Amino acid sequence: MMAKMEKDAVNRLKEWFLEHQRELPWRECKTPYRVWISEVMLQQTQVAVVIPYFNSWMQKFPTIAALAEAPLEDVIKAWEGLGYYSRARNLHKAAQLVMSNFEGELPKSPEELDRLPGFGPYTIGAVLSFAYHQKAAAVDGNVIRVLSRFFASEKDSAQRKAYEELSLSLLPDDEPWIAMEGLIELGAKVCQRRPKCSECPLMEGCQAYRQGKAEDFPIKKKRPTTIYLERQVAIIHWKDEILVKQEKEGKVMAGLYEFPYALLNEKLGVDLSLKKLTELPLVKHGFTRYNVTLYPCLYESAEKKNIDGFEWKKWQELILLPFSSGHRRILKELENLSQ
Ligand code: SF4
Repeated sequence: MMAKMEKDAVNRLKEWFLEHQRELPWRECKTPYRVWISEVMLQQTQVAVVIPYFNSWMQKFPTIAALAEAPLEDVIKAWEGLGYYSRARNLHKAAQLVMSNFEGELPKSPEELDRLPGFGPYTIGAVLSFAYHQKAAAVDGNVIRVLSRFFASEKDSAQRKAYEELSLSLLPDDEPWIAMEGLIELGAKVCQRRPKCSECPLMEGCQAYRQGKAEDFPIKKKRPTTIYLERQVAIIHWKDEILVKQEKEGKVMAGLYEFPYALLNEKLGVDLSLKKLTELPLVKHGFTRYNVTLYPCLYESAEKKNIDGFEWKKWQELILLPFSSGHRRILKELENLSQ
């Protein structure tokens, strides 16, 4: 999806932002520290709630140095009511690291910012773009909504990386940070869940609007189709030993033990002379996109033979082994049976 947003659409967006942006305390003076604090506070929290917290925070901890030197309890106290307290702890820890490793200034490279606690792709992009005026993508849900609609994109909102690349491809060389913040503001104020297309500077050129399908974007994440399987599971014992197999690396159940199994209409593939003893209750379980019904059956083997890929284990050893969840439930049934 490397379609280009037309140059004049980007210009219209920038003009719109400069004229219509909300007056917010962190926009008055965009130092890296203020951008950082505001963006962390805005995660999971509405703008109106954040404003008084931001103002009081800046009075208590006006600089990164002040934040780093403050006792953690004071930092947590200042955060009280915002929730997700790990954010406050990360801010405090990151401020101390910035003091000790970066002479009190937030670094200007994404790699260095990434090493600080609490910095995810969005916060990194926001600091680099809004504070350091670099051509950097700060992609949140607002940006994804606007871009997915403008391009009638087939990428769902979980494909953040694709939207980061798309943002970067359309940011202009000239004042890219205004276009970046403009996209976020447009998503917050105009291209909302119910879009106000008549107020939108991007209406001309917007594919979803043209198709009359704005609310259909971003598209919902496609769920992988569930695969239903029916398997026979053979619990084969010879005296007090039971035949099991440890799944190899690279398999879904790698490292876990299972009894021999096969699809209902297939052969088990264990070359033993077996006597069927009893059927156990069926077990249903799901993993990744599989929904499996297991039909366990207890057999007695007339002999103990080495079978490629399998091991004979005594009952006492067996119950200590890590089993896949479906086969663990069969093991439980076996325990009940033997009591
Ligand atoms: S025209 Fe409508 S759907 Fe398209 S970007 Fe603007 S508000 Fe969103």
